[in-house]
Amino acid sequence: QVRYENINKKFGNVHVLKNLHLTVNDGEFLVLLGPSGCGKSTALRMLAGLENPTSGEIYIGGQPVTDMDPKDRDISMVFQSYALYPHMSVFENITYPLKIRKVPKAERKKKADDIAEILEIGDLLKRKPKELSGGQRQRVALGRSLIRQPNVFLMDEPLSNLDAKLRVHMRGEIKRLHSELGITSVYVTHDQTEAMTMADRIAIMEGGHLQQLASPDEIYHQPANRYVGGFIGSPA
Ligand code: ATP
Ligand code: MG
Repeated sequence: QVRYENINKKFGNVHVLKNLHLTVNDGEFLVLLGPSGCGKSTALRMLAGLENPTSGEIYIGGQPVTDMDPKDRDISMVFQSYALYPHMSVFENITYPLKIRKVPKAERKKKADDIAEILEIGDLLKRKPKELSGGQRQRVALGRSLIRQPNVFLMDEPLSNLDAKLRVHMRGEIKRLHSELGITSVYVTHDQTEAMTMADRIAIMEGGHLQQLASPDEIYHQPANRYVGGFIGSPA
């Protein structure tokens, strides 16, 4: 379980997150949705420990982690611009997080095979990133993030660099991965369709505030306010 407890974030005079309270349930796929600049990435990066709140507390698995080092958090994150190591093979890219933690080679191999099977990239392990398609590269990036089997998985617009068709396909792949691994996931996007099709619950943010937290169905049929209705394009 992941929790934001009365979080405020200011960059200089800019108040980006205002009194944010939000709980992500175990195993849930929660989508943070909102327009550009509303603070989605800032909120996500805070879970990973890449931003500190100006005030408030972050909890992961019931423990306050606000002062915990990023590398000690049981969390993994993929970004929009997922940089693979170009000189390394797919296998080396995927297992890098294990290598730096001195996991023995046999175990790295086993874990790589397991994750590659789930991601359907088992036959690509010897290739270099430049020999892969965009979707294959994105799968490798997902594999690299998931190989440590984190309890919480964070994704910041991971599909926005892909073409429309591949994006739709990868939405399904990420959801499949989520249900196979049962991993608590927070997914950031500004794309309403992506949010509506992928989320268990959507947190809609705007103007530094959480505007609504509800299922896609509820957000569509019972938007909390005019802003949400307009943003989602619901009839209400
Ligand atoms: P997008 O959809 O464009 O990625 P976002 O919702 O992820 O937007 P953030 O990246 O969280 O938005 O940024 C929220 C606000 O905070 C923006 O106004 C941004 O300019 C500002 N901001 C973010 N990081 C910093 C920083 N390091 N220093 C100063 N201002 C920042
Ligand atoms: Mg962002």
